[in-house]
Amino acid sequence: MDIVLMGAPGAGKGTQAAKLEKELGLKHISTGDVLREEIASGSELGKRVAAIIDGGDLVSDELMVSILKNIVAGTDKGIIFDGFPRTVPQAQMLDDMLKQLGRKLGKAVAIELPEEAAVQRLSARKQCKLPSGEVKQIGPDFSLEECQKQGGEIFQRPDDTPGHIRHRFAVYHQQTEPVMRFYRQNGLYAEVNGDQDPQAVFEDLLAVLKK
Ligand code: AMP
Repeated sequence: MDIVLMGAPGAGKGTQAAKLEKELGLKHISTGDVLREEIASGSELGKRVAAIIDGGDLVSDELMVSILKNIVAGTDKGIIFDGFPRTVPQAQMLDDMLKQLGRKLGKAVAIELPEEAAVQRLSARKQCKLPSGEVKQIGPDFSLEECQKQGGEIFQRPDDTPGHIRHRFAVYHQQTEPVMRFYRQNGLYAEVNGDQDPQAVFEDLLAVLKK
């Protein structure tokens, strides 16, 4: 089953998607991670994308879908889409893409969190860059101490600074909230309360996905 995991920046999509990947044997695709890997590779495309992401704006729908197509076509597993679709045209393109590949979306689940709580989380959020180049988020599954033990470098995402966080929320309200209405209309939408500890959110997600 393919799943879309939605929610405002800071709602915990990445953390929960990683847990669901393990528990349900799915493939987790974070479009933010895919784009950050493109930037880290130093490619021309990466350079163009960096300016957009660092400012908190969205990469174009066409570019996003063309990057995703190969990744989706390359797996037989069910997929958890994290951070995609972020616009209604992306949701429509996802439908078409899945249809062409003989796949079907099972559910679109939103993790709901009040904006103030999400802003607080994002401002406090730290990443760890390991010597291998892999980036992990500091949190319950990967501590600050573990990062230091492995020789990692701690940093804040450029788009996790106060001005950029505010801009990301404006983009979210304008472009991504309509995606929830889109899934509500086609009957795939569900939501869970993200304002509880990560294990409780995870259990709620599992319950919704098993319905
Ligand atoms: P995230 O890691 O999901 O917070 O994404 C970080 C940034 O990557 C976003 O603020 C956008 O600039 C870009 N991005 C990620 N997913 C998408 C998408 N589906 N469409 C457009 N831009 C995206």
